[in-house]
Amino acid sequence: MSEPCIICVAITGSVPKKANNPAVPISISEQVESTHEAFEAGASIAHCHVRNDDETPTSDPEKFARLGEGLKKHCPGMIIQYSTGGRSGSGRERGGMLPLKPDMASLTVGSNNFPTRVYENSPELVDWLASEMIKYDIKPEIEAFDLSHIFQAVKMSEDGRLKKPLYVQFVMGVKNAMPVDKEVFDFYVKTLKRLAPDASWCGAGIAQNQIVLNEWCIAAGGHARTGLEDNVRLDKDRLAPSNAALVKRAVELCEKYERPVATWAQAREILGLRAAA
Ligand SMILES: [Zn+2]
Repeated sequence: MSEPCIICVAITGSVPKKANNPAVPISISEQVESTHEAFEAGASIAHCHVRNDDETPTSDPEKFARLGEGLKKHCPGMIIQYSTGGRSGSGRERGGMLPLKPDMASLTVGSNNFPTRVYENSPELVDWLASEMIKYDIKPEIEAFDLSHIFQAVKMSEDGRLKKPLYVQFVMGVKNAMPVDKEVFDFYVKTLKRLAPDASWCGAGIAQNQIVLNEWCIAAGGHARTGLEDNVRLDKDRLAPSNAALVKRAVELCEKYERPVATWAQAREILGLRAAA
């Protein structure tokens, strides 16, 4: 039997608003409810950002704490992953929630362009975030926006700044960063396997490319990310009614490629995480 596929649901992000899709969960209670539905549909990782009441992004640790409590209560066993991405704060603010010891946190190890700005990740900040993740026993998910980020993550795991084995996500389709390109995707997979044979990986595609990346990853034996953070539509005519609806699309692709959908317990084992708190 092929390896179970871990489905990650990126519930909110920093960018989409209710005006783009009213199903985007903004308040903590909406986030918990939306995640719960996605968990029941087959997601085992919740990738989380938090928002202010006016929908602007924040990295307020108090909000992350309340969200984490809600998720532990309503989605027992689910893997909680907090974003340290750069849209919700600057400098070390971005890691201010790490002392809450989520199971995982996202980590970008280099810089690149975003649609309207530079996504700045200085060596000093990357090293600090990585050291906090070691200190609090948090597994990083490396967000690779570029081939160089894969090399940098491997280097950091070789010299002890990151714990092995790596978990790397290939992000494709962010405007002004790496486009969605199958040959590059295949090369990413091949390069990671060559440099870090014990690593596992997943992929995320933006907007209409979410389903494209889901299919490439599931077909190639990787794991998959979906959710309203990256894409608010089911297709060009229809908004996604929920995060769960997007998770269901990924589950259907797992059926098509005969990949069992990982339970939260299997996902924890594959990722080498501590037991559910
Ligand atoms: Zn995110």
